[in-house]
Amino acid sequence: MELNELWKAALGEIELQVSKANFKTWLRNTSIVEKRGSAVVIGVPNSFTKEWLENKYHKFILGSLRNLESGIKEVSYQIRQNSDNENVKNQPINREEGGKIFGKQLDFQELTTDAITNLNPRYTFDNFIVGSSNELAHAAAMAVTQNLGRKYNPLFIYGGVGLGKTHLIQAIGNAVKKENPAKKIKYVTSERFTSEVISALRSGHLRPNEIDEFKKRWREVDLLIIDDIQFLAGKEKTQDEFFHTFNALYDAGKQIILSSDRSPKSIQTLEERLRSRFEGGMIADIAYPDLETRIAILKSKANERSVELSDEVFEYVAQNIKKNVRELEGALNRLIAANYQSKKAADLNEVKKLLNSVLSAPKKSTTLKGVIKAVVEFYDISEKELLERSRKKEIVKPRQIIMYLLREEMKSSFPFIGMKIGGRDHTTAIHACEKIKKELESDQGLNDEINSIKERLYLI
Ligand code: ADP
Ligand code: MG
Repeated sequence: MELNELWKAALGEIELQVSKANFKTWLRNTSIVEKRGSAVVIGVPNSFTKEWLENKYHKFILGSLRNLESGIKEVSYQIRQNSDNENVKNQPINREEGGKIFGKQLDFQELTTDAITNLNPRYTFDNFIVGSSNELAHAAAMAVTQNLGRKYNPLFIYGGVGLGKTHLIQAIGNAVKKENPAKKIKYVTSERFTSEVISALRSGHLRPNEIDEFKKRWREVDLLIIDDIQFLAGKEKTQDEFFHTFNALYDAGKQIILSSDRSPKSIQTLEERLRSRFEGGMIADIAYPDLETRIAILKSKANERSVELSDEVFEYVAQNIKKNVRELEGALNRLIAANYQSKKAADLNEVKKLLNSVLSAPKKSTTLKGVIKAVVEFYDISEKELLERSRKKEIVKPRQIIMYLLREEMKSSFPFIGMKIGGRDHTTAIHACEKIKKELESDQGLNDEINSIKERLYLI
């Protein structure tokens, strides 16, 4: 096997064993740089990733490589400036099993976004299942696609985590791009927008041009899509900048699409002028899908992956996962993974056993415990170590992130944070929050990580 092929196949297996967020965080931008005899060298983008792969994922990596080529005995990691592997980025993984492609198109969505628009081509109207829970939002989205900037402006879509907001708003972008490639489209999360505002403002002190360039960049688009706008709450400078961008685009008849996990009314600390702007357009919500819709979604996803399961199995899964389409997909992935490994058709009892842990997992919320759990799970570290005084780098950073989240998401006091997280002084908590805040300004990776953690935190 070619090195690229080998690594793609190995990633396909590793992906099934680690969480999606972890996969995205630690395995993106890796490649095999060398294979000599029984030793393989994996190229990684930085030392943090190197440490992480060595300590946490080595056994998965070695295991899946050996499954593919039993001669492989050793794996080491090497930091490479440019270990972007275009192949891994752009091609879906196909797994051959006895001539049959199994688990076609593994979920590589984060790795295939268009560099200019930031849109992921996987999100289309074609593969969006419409049911009573989302038909209004879907109809509005279609109407906007046909009447860009003229019908519903802005279009504001809101609903709970994992219900298809990102899918739908990106589908609009992809449809517009297909019909009219000349249109300038930009999709961003509000976190990304915030970090761009902050960095423009900062460098603007030194080079005033920077702010003008920033303005120009955002104001020349025909379609601006901002995802998870609720994260603008409380960020005054960003809201201010966004307000001006919004007005400039709106006045020029350009289309704006926004998503949020709640209605404009329920976003606390959103400036009144923005709220009324949002309410001036079309607001559509996405509710929990009903049973028929859930089954239809499962079937369509299974079909995309060329997997066949019995109606009984579809129904069982759909009956047990009601509030999150992403979790439905997760259950399906799990079945696919198990099916592949045990190489036998899944019967209902086996399915029940397999999904037991998924279905009975406690739900997360924003409590002290919830925050700790989300971070511990995300970084795959032990809670005990985290709460003790370990100074290991791989523990210190998650600990600081917990402190930051307790402050930002729960408005906990510094003495409380210090006390609860390992009996520390309030100055430690202040320092941790400041540090993370500062790093967030320039570190996109950290932004992504914290976003994923927040997503976990708000899973209802
Ligand atoms: P949100 O942005 O609301 O948190 P996403 O758009 O990321 O949710 O959806 C989560 C997953 O569920 C995605 O993989 C998406 O493709 C899928 N999904 C959600 N709703 C639908 C639907 N109606 N039809 C098909 N797939 C859906
Ligand atoms: Mg989303």
